[in-house]
Amino acid sequence: MRNYLKHYINGEWVESTGSDVEEVINPATEEVIGKISIGTKEDLDKAVKAAREAFPSFSTMPKDERVKMLERIAEEYEKRKEDIIETITDELGSPLAVSEKVHYMMGYNHFSQAAESLKEFSFIEDMGGHTRVKESVGVSGLITPWNFPTNQTSTKIASAFAAGSPVILKPAEVTPFAAIILAEIFEAAGVPKGVFNLVNGKGDVIGDGISSHPDIDFVSFTGSGRVGKKIMQNASETIKNVALELGGKSPLVVLEDADIEQAARTAVNHIATNTGQVCSAATRILVPNSMKEAFEEAVLKVLPEFSVGNPREDNQVGPLISKKQWDTVQSYIEKGVEEGATLLSGGTGKPEGLDKGYYTKLTVFSDVTNDMTIAEEEIFGPVMSILTYEDLDDAIKISNDTEYGLAGYVVGEDKKALRKVATSIRAGRIKVNDAEADFAAPFGGFKQSGIGREWGDHGIEEYLETKTILGYPS
Ligand code: ADP
Repeated sequence: MRNYLKHYINGEWVESTGSDVEEVINPATEEVIGKISIGTKEDLDKAVKAAREAFPSFSTMPKDERVKMLERIAEEYEKRKEDIIETITDELGSPLAVSEKVHYMMGYNHFSQAAESLKEFSFIEDMGGHTRVKESVGVSGLITPWNFPTNQTSTKIASAFAAGSPVILKPAEVTPFAAIILAEIFEAAGVPKGVFNLVNGKGDVIGDGISSHPDIDFVSFTGSGRVGKKIMQNASETIKNVALELGGKSPLVVLEDADIEQAARTAVNHIATNTGQVCSAATRILVPNSMKEAFEEAVLKVLPEFSVGNPREDNQVGPLISKKQWDTVQSYIEKGVEEGATLLSGGTGKPEGLDKGYYTKLTVFSDVTNDMTIAEEEIFGPVMSILTYEDLDDAIKISNDTEYGLAGYVVGEDKKALRKVATSIRAGRIKVNDAEADFAAPFGGFKQSGIGREWGDHGIEEYLETKTILGYPS
């Protein structure tokens, strides 16, 4: 049982000022795996005070010391590898291999990438007529979701530390334990007191408190559009800087000359990875009219390669995070059927033999049109929609006919067509033919997918203000 009834404030584990606790459930077993304290506004105030006090010295800490600090964090993070993997599997339900290759590695890469980006980063530049100085934005409040417990937290924290901004983190209440390990890692790495503060609690108390706190200068949020809008409204009261990474409904354009089986595997992989609980997942698969049947056949052939089941056994897909998420996904599947899409595979209910745990079937719809609910809304579950297109212009039009713009994908051979699709999709990150991840590359959304960019040097920029000095004596 993991009972963490304390917050980490000013370099110490402190009792909550409130008495509320919340149970954390393992979504694969539906069993309680631990408890956390539900923080109060008073706890948040203490954390903000500690961060403010840490600000003058941390924001002026020499760059090479900050680089070393990030490198020490990466080393300490590696030492906790097994614990991180096990914890994420228990709180999120991701298969052990996914917890290692995706969750553990993403956290590690953000800390080591931030150290590398910081080495190259210039905080003062002589521009001829003026000198441009980049300074820490101040104290940052970080609000994170549950779907990537180390990735979402680490990218924000690593960038903030690189920029010299002390932080207050409020992780999602359903996956709090990975963040507790991070606090222990920062302590072991000698992060100065007050630079990292962790307050567990509810979104409408601690999250709301962060976004409206007069002593917090910047809020970085990842989560739903609904909450993102509230955060922006709250932040407007004190003209706080905000970075928002919200949802997506990303297209995958399959070109006519694509390897059909490979394209089908890519498409299934998108709904299988993290049980489809990925904001940048491709969930609208656009195939040429002429390829429709062959593609559907290929998807059906590939699907059995992905087994849904116990994340501690050799399965590729675990459960959804919660009963609430399970219900949401079921209702989207029902809507898909109601609105006339063809259910090619999966459907509502639990996969055979998996009665306990929030498991759902990998579900594929074809004959989907872009105005159906399953093509318009982010489902956050393993549901694929196959749509068809006439020609490339049509594919691009359908791709962009969405309020979102987080990511886009294209697979095929013809370089001209690949370039056309990649440059025409209105989204923050485009991937051509399953290209490898690059942690130096900016990540963030166009349109209602958000504001700002994380990862690498762009991530560091988020936590900086630009100052112009005229007549700086050199
Ligand atoms: P998800 O659907 O991915 O859980 P949410 O947007 O609901 O996304 O939650 C993401 C994070 O935002 C969580 O840490 C949650 O506690 C927090 N949150 C929820 N409501 C609010 C709010 N009103 N203000 C600020 N943060 C909130």
